[in-house]
Amino acid sequence: MKKLILILFFTISKNALSVCIHEKEIVGMNLAKLNEAHQVFIKTEENKFIAYENFKINPLRKYQVQFKNKLRINNLNSKDYNKKYVEYYSYPRIQEFISEKQKEIEKLSYETAIVGKSIEGRNLYSIRPKSIVPTKKTILIFGRHHGDEGTANWIIEGFINKFLSASTDFHEKYQLVLYPMVNPDGAERRTRYNKNNRDLNRSWSSQFNRAYDEVKTIHKDLKTYIDQSEDIIIALDMHGSFTEDFIYRVKRNYISLDFFNHQQELIDELGSFDRWQEGNFQLSNGHPKMARIVLINSYQLNALTHETPRDIKLINRNGRSKASLLIQGNTIFQSILGLY
Ligand SMILES: [Zn+2]
Repeated sequence: MKKLILILFFTISKNALSVCIHEKEIVGMNLAKLNEAHQVFIKTEENKFIAYENFKINPLRKYQVQFKNKLRINNLNSKDYNKKYVEYYSYPRIQEFISEKQKEIEKLSYETAIVGKSIEGRNLYSIRPKSIVPTKKTILIFGRHHGDEGTANWIIEGFINKFLSASTDFHEKYQLVLYPMVNPDGAERRTRYNKNNRDLNRSWSSQFNRAYDEVKTIHKDLKTYIDQSEDIIIALDMHGSFTEDFIYRVKRNYISLDFFNHQQELIDELGSFDRWQEGNFQLSNGHPKMARIVLINSYQLNALTHETPRDIKLINRNGRSKASLLIQGNTIFQSILGLY
């Protein structure tokens, strides 16, 4: 009898893996099962996310939940993490980076402002011109709404390195308003949520006084810059996905075909420079309280979310490293310069 070799191909949906978190509505009695393979966080009426283990479940009620794979990475302390993965970007690192760059920042007539404090009292930084020139092309960048997505900050460093050393010509045309670490408390604890268990990328509102926690402070500060700037060319929100590089953008009919095509230009341009990103994108009209969606709806900004893998193994076949993340930051700079 001939031997039959059976090969099973398991296909895993790309979409299922590349998000930075999964969200769904689920009835209470099914939560225990979901929690077996995932870390599950349940949304409360105060827009907080409480771990399944700490929540009293009503089996018949429906709950809005966020969940992610139970990765062993989450249990590694920072020292052990850094032995296996690209160095985790911590709150002390952003402070160190800012102080390293302070002279260059001041030379450009920029400032590092502390726009407020996190719940636990850490600084919420912004790097921006001392005075905004309304007619200059304004680049708006946020980083780290989600504390455990450290790679996003290395990319921001790559961008800033290029930005600070750009020509006088460049600086006559462009200006930058940057909030490099929206959630320093989450960054410190390597968790997605802030100290109040809020998902800060679900905490925006069209009116800043209805936003939550750190986002409220940042939105209030940002508003003065949005009001003064006549030409905000792009708003990028930097995140870390579970697996791959991509850009989140709204669907074709969300605003208009022109808007869609305009966003496509940036994705194409970035794809031509960034060999990891390669023009990859995902269509998502997101959550109404997400930074990207509020910036599009309230201020008609060209807002996009940039995702890159959050945990990059030190030994990998893709040439990825801290240096490659800095290069990705350079390519964002090049793309903006090439396009707008
Ligand atoms: Zn994220």
